[in-house]
Amino acid sequence: MSRIAYVNGRYLPFAKAKVHVEDRGYQFSDGVYEVCEVRGGQLIDGRRHLERLKRSLGELNIRMPMSARALGVVMREVVARNRIGYGIVYLQITRGVARRDHAFPANEVRPSLVVTARTLNKARNEALAERGIAVVTVPDNRWGRVDIKTIGLLPNVLARQTALERGARDAWFVDAHGIVTEASSANVWLVTSDGTLITRHADNAILRGITRTVLFDAIRAEGLTVEERAFTLQDAYRAREAFITSASQIVLPVVRVDDRVIGDGKPGPVTIALRRAYRRFAEAG
Ligand code: PLP
Repeated sequence: MSRIAYVNGRYLPFAKAKVHVEDRGYQFSDGVYEVCEVRGGQLIDGRRHLERLKRSLGELNIRMPMSARALGVVMREVVARNRIGYGIVYLQITRGVARRDHAFPANEVRPSLVVTARTLNKARNEALAERGIAVVTVPDNRWGRVDIKTIGLLPNVLARQTALERGARDAWFVDAHGIVTEASSANVWLVTSDGTLITRHADNAILRGITRTVLFDAIRAEGLTVEERAFTLQDAYRAREAFITSASQIVLPVVRVDDRVIGDGKPGPVTIALRRAYRRFAEAG
């Protein structure tokens, strides 16, 4: 079955799914995106992802190409046309197509909208979560507004490539003060050496993950508490447990940071409990 993409109003086979060379996404990374998990053919936390999308667009003065409700319809249609049971749906909006010029184009230029979806390998993801992953750390050299989910991901791309070249699965960004901000495409959590569950507070220096937000509900339901605060790389090296959260991986244990083994080198009990509990709080629809 050939994959289908939605491109500016049309559902097209992948080979025909194209955008213009002067799309501002292509020229300037002038756009934003969202990734939602798909499970049982349903969007997971679609409403929350579309709320964050609206915020990202608002921060950049890009208008919504259609209502959030209509975007939800398109996303579900792409999921259905690609027969995705378990996977992800990707949505990207750019400022549109205009003669290359840094300043915003005229008001009548319409934002471009692309939606794709693909299947993920559930067994592989589960196996990864059972083992846990290794991460390396890299300097956080990103711009100061990574709370906006822009398609400008070059530092994230380079970080992930560095991780792979060093035999790890992912990279964590560490800022100039030695604070761990987030992973290349996920938020970072620790159970510290004294047993406190922490994650970095959400400001302009990290993306406020939807999985992160939903996990707060799961934490309360498990009778746990979490502190939202900055933590250093040294805190991470000494942690009992570590994990990352994102829509495509949910709660993924981290068992090695650089050359340090975390805890006993296996996913810890809090991490495992939260991975299980998460599902009850995610909204399917
Ligand atoms: N931080 C970054 C840099 C990301 O790219 C992502 C997801 O892509 C996240 C955090 C986690 O966000 P979410 O839980 O909404 O997927």
